[in-house]
Amino acid sequence: MSWDGEQKMRFIFALRSAGVTDGRVLEAMEAVDRGKFLRGIFAERAYEDMPLPIACGQTISQPSIVALMTQALDVRPRDKVLEIGTGSGYQAAVLSQMARRVYTIDRHRQLVRSAQGTFDLEGYHNITALCADGSRGLPEQAPFDRILVTAAAEDPPGPLLAQLREGGIMVVPVGQSDAVQSLIKVTKTGSGLEYEELRAVRFVPLLEGLGQE
Ligand code: SAH
Repeated sequence: MSWDGEQKMRFIFALRSAGVTDGRVLEAMEAVDRGKFLRGIFAERAYEDMPLPIACGQTISQPSIVALMTQALDVRPRDKVLEIGTGSGYQAAVLSQMARRVYTIDRHRQLVRSAQGTFDLEGYHNITALCADGSRGLPEQAPFDRILVTAAAEDPPGPLLAQLREGGIMVVPVGQSDAVQSLIKVTKTGSGLEYEELRAVRFVPLLEGLGQE
């Protein structure tokens, strides 16, 4: 089963209402069926603008937040993108529509396996999913044009900032894990790092080391 025209229309309307104006982002969001990244009873609610539970006690983010983060990242067709926090794989699939190559890392092996299965089945061939502690980044593929962190860090992790190309952009929720966090956009320029605070968000914490599953 795929989503129908009516579901798509409502879904895109919710994104526009939330402030998503970039046509490339709206196209990418329309191209990726969120229902394919959810299991069981939650798949029925895939097109509502709500976060939903996935395996390993994690959550798939709210579609409007996925779209706003993607918009802030300003992804271009030649970009190599790193995502920390694969979760369901949905955000990586959206990024894959706009970038040349996407690397996505999660500390839960089960989530990485399941997301990779969905990428293979649905034909997202420019995504590589890896199980590792993403706060260390992926030095062997650095530098990255864009980095998106989809778990909340106390500060933007140093290794990730180091792996960002000059002219590159990183978007990361920053703040204490059990509170409301700030979504921050970091731009690396020739003379250093520029920070811009975008909005309040709520994400699961960025944890150290690998998960149990
Ligand atoms: N982007 C996801 C949602 C992310 S939920 C989606 O589209 O569905 C946050 C994810 O970050 C969780 O799956 C969690 O396991 C992962 N995570 C937390 N700390 C991490 C770390 N240090 N390295 C890699 N992944 C981490």
